[in-house]
Amino acid sequence: MLVIMTLLVPIFADTKGFAAHWALSGEVGAHDPTLIKEGNSWYAFSTGPGISVLKSDNGSNFYRVPQVFLTQPSWWKQYAPGLTGDRTLDVWAPDVKSYNGRVWLYYAISSEFGKNISAIGLASASSVGAGSWRDEGVVLTSNTSSNFNAIDPELVIDKDGNPWMAFGSFWSGLKLTRLDKNTMKPTGNISSIAYRPTGDHEIEAPAITYNAQTGYYYLFASIDKCCSGANSTYKIVYGRSKNIAGPYVDKNGVSMMNGGGTILDAGNDRWRGPGGQDIYNNIIVRHSYDATTPKGDPKMLISDLNYDSAGWPTY
Ligand code: CA
Repeated sequence: MLVIMTLLVPIFADTKGFAAHWALSGEVGAHDPTLIKEGNSWYAFSTGPGISVLKSDNGSNFYRVPQVFLTQPSWWKQYAPGLTGDRTLDVWAPDVKSYNGRVWLYYAISSEFGKNISAIGLASASSVGAGSWRDEGVVLTSNTSSNFNAIDPELVIDKDGNPWMAFGSFWSGLKLTRLDKNTMKPTGNISSIAYRPTGDHEIEAPAITYNAQTGYYYLFASIDKCCSGANSTYKIVYGRSKNIAGPYVDKNGVSMMNGGGTILDAGNDRWRGPGGQDIYNNIIVRHSYDATTPKGDPKMLISDLNYDSAGWPTY
């Protein structure tokens, strides 16, 4: 593995930014983190029982605070019947954003890993600090007759202030749908924004950000194999588009609908399988498996997200 990484790094020049992450301390165990700041407080929500929450008072030292859901909302089992026993509160890949005077927390529940019997749910609060989450119910569902998996939600606000939701994992790829400004739930059609035509169609975890300086929307996604500790081959790719609905193209002009995506981060000897990313202003957060721990523990990494002179993202 060491030999392979040594050979790969010079080829994929964009992976060299992997080291440029913030020095974090305390409790940083996380999978699929999403970040928000209120005043001087930072909050990272992530995959875990009832949605795991880490808090920091300075942006560097994090500690664990109570999870969002202490009990299972009554409607979950209707869409994810597998959520029983030790999976009763199993929530995946949340997305937190502030919009229109409230904080919106999208999340996914799924009946079984690798199946698309899933749902995206929503909770909201006047602020994270207020700590009183309101169950907003179901947002979108999928089942075995769907050509997508309703997980990995991402709230996106377009340049005109309208809300959209990106989502998706495997199957026919990453999707986008308009949201109603009041309900924050889908209105209208679902369109496709990224697809990998080959293999197991391993693409998930969309994160979209608009850069007013470049005039582009940037779509980040995770490709290849997650969730295998230090053996994960997960990596972060990106493309850009003048239109939120795409087409998103990579540096080589290949559409992300046709397997395109320039590698932002493929990890290094220590930090394996980076992915499950989220963008907060000009910050990118993701997990990566720490190969210096016996089990390759997933940990949260945060970096400044910059743009080069040609308007492409870089660490
Ligand atoms: Ca997100």
